[in-house]
Amino acid sequence: MLMNFHAEWNQGEISLRIVKSSVKLLDMYDPIEAMKHIESRIRNCYKSEDKSTEDSYIRMLGKMIDSHHYSTLEHISFTAKFICTRACSHQIVRHRHGSYSQESQRYINYSRGKFGSEIQVMQPPRIMTNTPEFVIWSKQIESAEKAYLDLIKAGIKAQDARSVLPNCAKTELDVTMNPRAWRDFFKLRCSPHAQDEIRMLAKDLLEQLCLNYYPLFGDLK
Ligand SMILES: Cc1cc2nc3c(=O)[nH]c(=O)nc-3n(C[C@H](O)[C@H](O)[C@H](O)COP(=O)(O)OP(=O)(O)OC[C@H]3O[C@@H](n4cnc5c(N)ncnc54)[C@H](O)[C@@H]3O)c2cc1C
Repeated sequence: MLMNFHAEWNQGEISLRIVKSSVKLLDMYDPIEAMKHIESRIRNCYKSEDKSTEDSYIRMLGKMIDSHHYSTLEHISFTAKFICTRACSHQIVRHRHGSYSQESQRYINYSRGKFGSEIQVMQPPRIMTNTPEFVIWSKQIESAEKAYLDLIKAGIKAQDARSVLPNCAKTELDVTMNPRAWRDFFKLRCSPHAQDEIRMLAKDLLEQLCLNYYPLFGDLK
């Protein structure tokens, strides 16, 4: 189970299931074989397959990146699982070269026992626990949760009841993109101009990829 429970916050009558954002690379490859696979496709351009050595992929990938010959990086893809707010997921799916599978608020009924009869939410990092701002925020979220559960109880389908759920509701989003598209994603989303949550997740995923795929992503760190 990837879900990372951060805290269950209780104060008086307020009770919220607060979880943390996270991202995990779901790697399907032997990293060196995957990068050699890209190298072979590149060498087809120049018919230089015979020049391939144990580690020539490192220099070859660097050369493609330096010369902006990015289409050569499209021959493999990586999948990452994001656990984040709905607001953040909306930013992620703007990247048009991705393939997406997202937890459905239409088909999932959070009032069911399987989901603990509650929604899960994420606390904005700049709203600190035990502050007056946190009380304003948490009361609003609790009220949204109550409205959702009341609507379901009254026979309204999840696909309509979800209209009262907040932007900070937790979602799970599986994203698949090729290295070129991930590079574009990191350039935009690791930037100081990006919003806190997506920036934190993008930087984390970039670190995970750099562990085994440094020749493909290391220049972006
Ligand atoms: C700091 C920040 C603030 C933002 N604020 C807003 C906002 O206020 N409102 C809002 O609506 N969005 C906002 N966005 C989202 C932004 O407009 C893009 O939708 C998002 O960043 C995806 O980037 P993209 O379109 O470059 O790339 P992707 O969809 O990831 O595509 C990657 C690249 O492929 C090429 N490409 C893809 N599709 C086409 C196409 N149809 N034609 C030509 N080239 C194409 C482009 O070179 C593009 O850069 C913001 C993004 C950032 C990073």
